[in-house]
Amino acid sequence: MLNEILSGWKNFIQKSEVTENTARKRAALCALCPHAAKGKLLIFIKDDLKEIQGSYCNVCKCPLSAKVRSNDICPENKW
Ligand code: SF4
Repeated sequence: MLNEILSGWKNFIQKSEVTENTARKRAALCALCPHAAKGKLLIFIKDDLKEIQGSYCNVCKCPLSAKVRSNDICPENKW
């Protein structure tokens, strides 16, 4: 899972249109998910996807800014 999240941070920095389109759809699902939680340290990471800015998944513990841009899967199979 570490490799997937690192790839997500790489995509966070190097934003491509395909990645951002996919990330936007995933972020919309995460924003409605009861497993999305606010992380205290993550508030310092600014994200164009405001609906998930500062949040992490409390199932896999991954920051959502990287998670939605990674080649990982949602642990609850929502995307
Ligand atoms: S990755 Fe899946 S389980 Fe985690 S917050 Fe997003 S939709 Fe919910």
